[in-house]
Amino acid sequence: MIEILQADITTLAVDAIVNAANEALRGGGGVDGAIHRAAGPELLAECRRHPGCPTGTAVLTRGYRLPARFVIHTVGPIWRGGASGEAELLARAYESVFEVARAEGTIRSLAFPAISTGVYGYPKAAAGEIALRAMRAHADEFDRIVACLFDAESAQAYRDTLGRLSSP
Ligand code: ADP
Repeated sequence: MIEILQADITTLAVDAIVNAANEALRGGGGVDGAIHRAAGPELLAECRRHPGCPTGTAVLTRGYRLPARFVIHTVGPIWRGGASGEAELLARAYESVFEVARAEGTIRSLAFPAISTGVYGYPKAAAGEIALRAMRAHADEFDRIVACLFDAESAQAYRDTLGRLSSP
């Protein structure tokens, strides 16, 4: 089941929340900063044990003080106008999260932020369509997939896109 929520992703009690991280996995602004603040310093300590996370790949850590048991860190592309493989890299970031979630074995619910649509500048409508197509492709493998948007306008845009993708 795909659910669209307007919420702060750090408050969601799902098995795993997804972080829109950077390749160094050293925390940052936006949703990354919010997740590290809410999880506590143990999260950064675990991230430091990873060599990094190239764009389009994903890394699993524990969730520490978050209600979520796990964080799946992925890195979306920086928007450079659209002719630099951004769409494929963004789709790959979502696919990598699903692969990591499946491999963990006990993750039944997960929540995604709108990867790449903040500081990385990916146009929101185009990114939302890629996100929702990926979620639809994996909806049967999990009990609950949440698309977590920070603002009401983005949540409504996701609802419109999901409706369009779902209609025959
Ligand atoms: P990126 O670097 O991948 O663009 P950002 O963190 O800058 O990542 O932004 C990604 C999206 O996350 C943006 O649409 C932003 O509005 C949203 N966002 C920021 N903080 C939160 C939060 N606490 N919960 C959910 N979404 C958030």
